[in-house]
Amino acid sequence: MSSLSTAMECAAKGLVAEPCAGGAHRRCGSCGAVAYCSRAHQFIHWTLHKEECARLATQMSHIDVLSQFPFVFSIESPALNHAIPNTRCFFLESFKVHLKGLWKSECRCGPEISSVKDLSITAEWNMESSLCPCTEPGNSLSAPLASWEEYYRWRSLPLHSPAAVLLHWPLTLYHCLQLSRIQASRCDANDTLRIHYLGPEKELLQLPVFAELLALFPGVHLCIELVGPTVPRSRDGEVLNISSYAHCSAESCCCRSFAASEDVNCSALTLKLWKGVYHERYSDMDSNPHLIVAPNAGLAAYPTWLPTIEMIRKIGIPAMFTDFCEEAAHLASCCISSITGQPLRVPIQVNPFRQPIAENNSALYIPCYSNCFIFGM
Ligand SMILES: [Zn+2]
Ligand SMILES: [Zn+2]
Ligand SMILES: [Zn+2]
Ligand SMILES: [Zn+2]
Ligand SMILES: [Zn+2]
Repeated sequence: MSSLSTAMECAAKGLVAEPCAGGAHRRCGSCGAVAYCSRAHQFIHWTLHKEECARLATQMSHIDVLSQFPFVFSIESPALNHAIPNTRCFFLESFKVHLKGLWKSECRCGPEISSVKDLSITAEWNMESSLCPCTEPGNSLSAPLASWEEYYRWRSLPLHSPAAVLLHWPLTLYHCLQLSRIQASRCDANDTLRIHYLGPEKELLQLPVFAELLALFPGVHLCIELVGPTVPRSRDGEVLNISSYAHCSAESCCCRSFAASEDVNCSALTLKLWKGVYHERYSDMDSNPHLIVAPNAGLAAYPTWLPTIEMIRKIGIPAMFTDFCEEAAHLASCCISSITGQPLRVPIQVNPFRQPIAENNSALYIPCYSNCFIFGM
């Protein structure tokens, strides 16, 4: 995820013979999405940029809509994010969760997943029980959730709780299932909802947050197989059973004494880890998933996606993708259409459950959030 680097680079860097003249401080006057080190580089780059300038200008205009959240904690606008590189650290610090428990990999100070040999599960929110969903929901869902506001109300979380920052992983998965109209069957049908989850990265250090799926799909057996190059070799083939929510910080809370969902509704969540790219590991995995999901995929940025898309087309299983920014989603959709010869099954749309704190993107000034845009083939 290159999105964690901050210094804006000249858009012409590497594309022209002369090296850059220093920092990229000149923004394109029409779109404002790209920056240049010099007038000369901006001039040379125009032959390429003129193809995308109007599109990027439209994407820049969505900044207000994308930065709208119901939360009452303060979130820097994406525009400010480049000026203040440590926004995330300050944000986490303000909740006293910086480098703690499940939050460890939420800023660049955290460990590199590839260098972590033991992804030992730290199922700790490091927050008081009123701020995190550490126990069963008070009532079951009567209608599908469509926004953070509805989710927070259902889980009785106050709008100053930062829990959504981590819960955007399971809620995005929930939303992908809703968009694909996949109905989860109750456990008495003895059926399992099977998901292939492609390209996990820092969420590998946050797996206990997926326990929220137990609350979202009561009585359903879920099996999620996570496959990607970032899975540590030592964890290849590992199976994790999750039957309780991550704990709050109160020693006396009932979340420490009882395993959620045991006896209550017989929900179960099984995670399996596979190292490698999907099209090379598919034969090792349980076949016939109901859905394939690829969060923050960066489809157009990594050539290894092409044989994977080709394979998904052949096996004919619905697949949902997300990406950080609209431009990445646009390039990905072109990529998918060129392989399938068809338009997207689910057109590009804003994910209501995107992460509520902006990411930095070192190449463009366009708004950028984890799991921001969603689309499917
Ligand atoms: Zn330059
Ligand atoms: Zn422009
Ligand atoms: Zn930090
Ligand atoms: Zn059961
Ligand atoms: Zn608790």
